[in-house]
Amino acid sequence: MEELPGLSGCRILWGEKCNIMSIREKYQITEYCHHFLREYIHEGDHCIDATCGKGCDTEFLCRSVGKTGRVYGFDIQREAVEQTRIRLERAGCADQAVLICDGHEKMADYVKDQAAVIMFNFGYLPGGDHSVATRSRTSLKAVQEGLGLLKTGGVMSLCIYSGGDTGYEEKNTLLAYLKGLDTKYWLVIVHSYYNRRNDPPLPVFVIRLA
Ligand code: SAM
Repeated sequence: MEELPGLSGCRILWGEKCNIMSIREKYQITEYCHHFLREYIHEGDHCIDATCGKGCDTEFLCRSVGKTGRVYGFDIQREAVEQTRIRLERAGCADQAVLICDGHEKMADYVKDQAAVIMFNFGYLPGGDHSVATRSRTSLKAVQEGLGLLKTGGVMSLCIYSGGDTGYEEKNTLLAYLKGLDTKYWLVIVHSYYNRRNDPPLPVFVIRLA
């Protein structure tokens, strides 16, 4: 298990070293998504983190693609981009990252490569201003743009939150859209923390089949 000094959150491994991590941590949504995505990412791939936040997912992607890969990271908050940059520098994997302080709904303006993995972790910056959060209209546009950039065999992950400050609009909008995706080209898998109460987060994966 690797963890950066002074930066809580993301662990890197869920394999032979996972005995160091508690079982509960292993199934926390971020870690769960990393575990799922690992087999889809290879050295040299291009990936997108659509919501950098504190940089946990960006770091996971940068480590996974290695020195020859590239990771595009988006966040509308300068504070988040800066936290991510510092995190990547400390982890020694800043070279493969391109950090963009702009809305993910404009990702196709910046990214011209096909992506192996695209990650969305919706909501607000942990410890930050809850009113600066993802919104259903821009989230939907970003997911649509992202699907256009995903390569065949690639996967998009979406950590979707609801209830509390977040409400239900974003979740309902995204799930309604994903439900309608053509089964010839897309496989949508919605996982569920089935026995948890009070609007548990929803890990969703969209795989491009053709
Ligand atoms: N993946 C992050 C991590 O590993 O720490 C957590 C992401 S956090 C839950 C959600 C982030 O989305 C916030 O930092 C927020 O500023 C960002 N955000 C909100 N609207 C956005 C938009 N339109 N485009 C890009 N980022 C956005």
